[in-house]
Amino acid sequence: MSSPAADANDFRSPHVALLPSSGAGHITPFLRLAASLLSQNCRVTLITSHPIVTQAESNLISSFLSSFPQVTEKQFHILPLDPASAASSKDPFFLQWESIRRSLHLLSSILSSLSPPLDAMVSDITLISSTITITKPLKIPNYVLFTSSAKMFSLASYYSVLSESLSDSTKISEINIPGIGAIPRSSIPPLLLVPESLFATMFKSNSDNLRQFDGIIINTFDQLESKTLKALKTGEVAGGLPPLFNVGLIPHDFERKLGLGGEGAEAVSKWLDAQLAKSVVYVSFGSRTALSREQIRELGEGLVKSGYPFIWVMKDKAVDKEDGEKLEGVLGAEMMEEVKEKGIVVKEWVDQVEVLRHNSVGGFVSHCGWNSVVEAAWVGVPVLAWPLHGDQRINGEVVEGSGLGFMGGNWGWSGEVLVKGEEIGRRIKEMMEDEGLRLRAGEIRDEVRKVVGGTGDDGLKQLIQKWRA
Ligand code: UDP
Ligand code: UDP
Ligand code: UDP
Repeated sequence: MSSPAADANDFRSPHVALLPSSGAGHITPFLRLAASLLSQNCRVTLITSHPIVTQAESNLISSFLSSFPQVTEKQFHILPLDPASAASSKDPFFLQWESIRRSLHLLSSILSSLSPPLDAMVSDITLISSTITITKPLKIPNYVLFTSSAKMFSLASYYSVLSESLSDSTKISEINIPGIGAIPRSSIPPLLLVPESLFATMFKSNSDNLRQFDGIIINTFDQLESKTLKALKTGEVAGGLPPLFNVGLIPHDFERKLGLGGEGAEAVSKWLDAQLAKSVVYVSFGSRTALSREQIRELGEGLVKSGYPFIWVMKDKAVDKEDGEKLEGVLGAEMMEEVKEKGIVVKEWVDQVEVLRHNSVGGFVSHCGWNSVVEAAWVGVPVLAWPLHGDQRINGEVVEGSGLGFMGGNWGWSGEVLVKGEEIGRRIKEMMEDEGLRLRAGEIRDEVRKVVGGTGDDGLKQLIQKWRA
């Protein structure tokens, strides 16, 4: 029989503060985690860093807050970087991560003033070496949310063992991770091979601090990465890591209010309804990856050559607020005509999950940002992987290894290779015609749905139990 104290704990609502960094790929899993915690009766304080880089992030946060008025938002106003640091990268998100990291000493007073006191804080992986110095003196248990695959986490956790030997990066042909296997040089995030880059510096400092945390939350499913998760949980990959909780962070209703909105959304939905089942290719490279103009035009040609109808979300700039060029200016008048006959091209934010789950959609050409992979698994849509940056090739390997999809080919990192329309069209056809692949993607969806979401999720249950104790 359980004690009265234990019974009381079963109903206690732990208070958790969530600290995402920046980029829709980071905000989204944090908000999904928040929604899952709220459904399990937790109190949530969301710390939002201002100024916010993109409109998409602002929209996600607003929609979340209006769906969950019980959440406390704490706006955190970050300091601008000094000019030398601001010149250390061209990537607006890396710079924002660095600004947040350097401003975190200002967060102490916010955290200590929260009422009731915090039972835990969850920090974005990109910020952890700085957040730990704030939560330690306040004695607030701190958990990491890792926003990429477990396979990428195996690299992050093994990295601190290895980073000395990475200093002469020209000599590296692969990284052999115990329990996981070799990550070939061609799959290592390119900036990790530039040890003085801002990304590599942050990555090392964060990896070195993982062992100081109370737990690590990874947004993944056993159905995608069971072997990797086992190797991580048994300590085969790296010793001394805190407990690991895999929690599948799945789409929630608050995301559905976004998208094209109004007439645009209606037009897409009507068009999709009119297509044959499983005949449409959905193409998106996420929230922050812009292709070159030349590559955009080859992709347009590939889509037309594939012979399948398509919805193509095109990005011409990494930050949405700077993406002012009209579609025709990017594609050229002639290609614009051709493309319009066969499919829909948009430059605005679309509700990706809403599109992917439509019965007409039969395949996804994806850069393999991790949230996109999670969403493809959740809806059971096959993926043609076209990784372009950072962790995306490692994620693409997870896609291929699980049978959810396959890699396009030796297509290089962004800007290294101009992939021709002919080849793109051929690979799309291959994806759309592969019955076995479609069945496997459907199996993954069915298996995932048996265990993920709400109370069925063991990782989430264990985590909340720990916070209630
Ligand atoms: N980038 C991107 N998607 C990603 C990661 C990076 O489009 O997922 C872009 C980013 O906006 C920037 C460039 O890639 O323009 C960063 O690459 P670079 O090698 O120039 O690194 P940096 O010197 O900026 O750190
Ligand atoms: N990452 C990490 N430590 C860091 C920074 C990043 O482990 O200090 C991981 C994180 O999971 C991130 C992934 O590396 O999602 C890839 O980073 P990328 O440059 O592609 O940017 P993102 O796509 O996350 O914006
Ligand atoms: N997304 C969306 N509509 C868009 C572009 C992106 O809904 O027009 C969502 C997508 O569903 C995913 C997130 O934004 O949840 C992008 O994260 P991901 O990790 O796939 O890639 P990133 O943008 O970080 O490269």
